[in-house]
Amino acid sequence: MPSRSNKIAASSQPTSSDVGQGPPGRSLLAVVAHPDDEAYGPGGTLAYYADRGVDVYLACATRGEAGRRRGSPPFVSQGELGGVRARELHCSARILGVKSVFLLDLPDGGVAGFDPTEAALRLARVIRQTAPQVLIAFGPGGSLSPHPDHVAVSQLADAALRTLAPSERPRRIFHYLSPWQYSPADHPGIEPVVVDIGAYRLRRLQALKCHLTQVQQVPWLFGPEDQVAATFPAVDRFQLVQPPADGPLADLFDGL
Ligand SMILES: [Zn+2]
Repeated sequence: MPSRSNKIAASSQPTSSDVGQGPPGRSLLAVVAHPDDEAYGPGGTLAYYADRGVDVYLACATRGEAGRRRGSPPFVSQGELGGVRARELHCSARILGVKSVFLLDLPDGGVAGFDPTEAALRLARVIRQTAPQVLIAFGPGGSLSPHPDHVAVSQLADAALRTLAPSERPRRIFHYLSPWQYSPADHPGIEPVVVDIGAYRLRRLQALKCHLTQVQQVPWLFGPEDQVAATFPAVDRFQLVQPPADGPLADLFDGL
């Protein structure tokens, strides 16, 4: 576990005193839909950059309160699930070196049906507060899966960015390309940015296991950690979507 401060701001309402105080140095914000998306998704990359001194932030649209999994056997009630999953997210974020987590408190399973203006304002507020140079979002297909919330959170990121002045926008926007689904044929002519997360597979596994309500029924995850971690992908890929690339990027921050 990293020794650096890991203050977790589990709030959808960043305090006004924090707004506008962008962190010095390099910063990255990842936007996901549910607690556990970060661990199934770009968690290795978050840890990679946190270890290299980047201030890494995570915005999660929902608390996952509508999830059907509540442990195996279930150990929380449906009513408790959102609170428990928020704590599981904080556990995962600490392991991955995330500096702060922001919960947007949109309805699990209903991101697309929520007031789009209000949702965009909530995420825009987080972007202003964290002032990321690099933003990682889900692609239009939902990146991890075509779950409606995954698709909606991709649109949410686009909408939030449109509300920002050019000076407030991240320098680069990337879409996460899930290694479970990535196929070069699906992205013709596009050279993704590759992050070598081979050394972060164990931490990613440990982060994933924080989400006990979601993974307890997956026994193989609880086998010998080195062996389980070795089955995880060794790279993450990201597609640059803004601004247009002048050439191949070696790194999400290459040239910034
Ligand atoms: Zn999800």
